[in-house]
Amino acid sequence: MFPLLALPLLLLFQTAGLEERFTRLMRDLLIFDAHIDTPRYTVDEGYRWADEHSYYETDIPRLKRGRVGAVMFGIYVEPQDYPQSLWLPRALACIDAFHQEAGRNPSDVEVAYTADDVVRIHKGGKTAVMLSLEGGHLILDSLPLLRIYYQLGVRYMTLAHFRTNNWADSATDAAVHNGLSAFGREVVREMNRLGMIVDVSHVSDKTVLDALEVSGSPVIASHSSAKALCDIPRNMSDDILRAIGRKGGVVAINFHAGYLDKGAYEVYIANRESRVREVKEALALHAPNPRRWEIARAVLQRYYQAMPPVGVKRLLEHIHHVAQVAGVDHVGLGSDFDGISGMVPRGMEDVSKYPVLVRGLLELGYSDADVRKIMGENLLRVMRANEAGSQPARRLLPD
Ligand SMILES: [Zn+2]
Repeated sequence: MFPLLALPLLLLFQTAGLEERFTRLMRDLLIFDAHIDTPRYTVDEGYRWADEHSYYETDIPRLKRGRVGAVMFGIYVEPQDYPQSLWLPRALACIDAFHQEAGRNPSDVEVAYTADDVVRIHKGGKTAVMLSLEGGHLILDSLPLLRIYYQLGVRYMTLAHFRTNNWADSATDAAVHNGLSAFGREVVREMNRLGMIVDVSHVSDKTVLDALEVSGSPVIASHSSAKALCDIPRNMSDDILRAIGRKGGVVAINFHAGYLDKGAYEVYIANRESRVREVKEALALHAPNPRRWEIARAVLQRYYQAMPPVGVKRLLEHIHHVAQVAGVDHVGLGSDFDGISGMVPRGMEDVSKYPVLVRGLLELGYSDADVRKIMGENLLRVMRANEAGSQPARRLLPD
């Protein structure tokens, strides 16, 4: 009779301890998301951070509920959607929208430029917001433009997006440069000099290896998951995970349900053409009706429902895998919220849900210190290392 009584008591005791640790962690834990794509919605739809929305994945009320301390917002202009003449104007419009929204909400968010800023802003009870650039094509092969982006607040750049550009091969396009071209290597060195983090999400394995070879500072994969668990071109092999870890970098896990689970990916990809076409048609048919975005979202919802459901457990498995393979110092979060067409895991539908991951990691047996690393401190460490590796700003001026 004793064991029958003791077991539930033991479980109860463990659960109670876990709840206590969860509550204590949530008091001051830094939750840092390396990749969220909201600014374009502000440009296209007048999406305001201050309002709570029943759609998309990020706004201030939900960031607060999720206790999110830091977000890197992504700026992207995909070559397949915009002619080259619009890359820079569109990127600048998104950067401006980011700064405008931050300016409208000074008691809730503040723009961070350094790791110290992130710590200070988070301690002050606000969310530190930062900028990143997704796709090296956006510098228009110009180092001066790269430097100007840095001045505007951009703190990391993804070397290539879905397409191979003039100097870096993408994982989802033809390999033209065998990784990075000579100019691509120069870009990486200039990023190091500025203290802008090199991001190797989206790029080919050879581009990752070239970037690791050239970069004097640790790199990140801002929104990539594990290929061993979901074998798709956007995810990273164990060898690449280890290589990034060996150089002190961080792989921030992408939450896209189709990047976490192969079955979901197959449905997502099979439907891609019709989904994209239907969205484009809906937007064109209903222009300039502001309700056209709602109609487009309904299309995406329908395709989301057609995908096999993927849960938080699967997301935790990717985090755990990277922690096992690359090390617990080399894994973080890069949800890709607002950039994944609503293809979110069940139970992790928006930024209000991050505490679910804290609890999940504790249940998996991670120590408080390791939970802190995974949820944000690892990314903060890479920011600091990139700042330490940079040259003082005055050196940016010609002699
Ligand atoms: Zn992306």
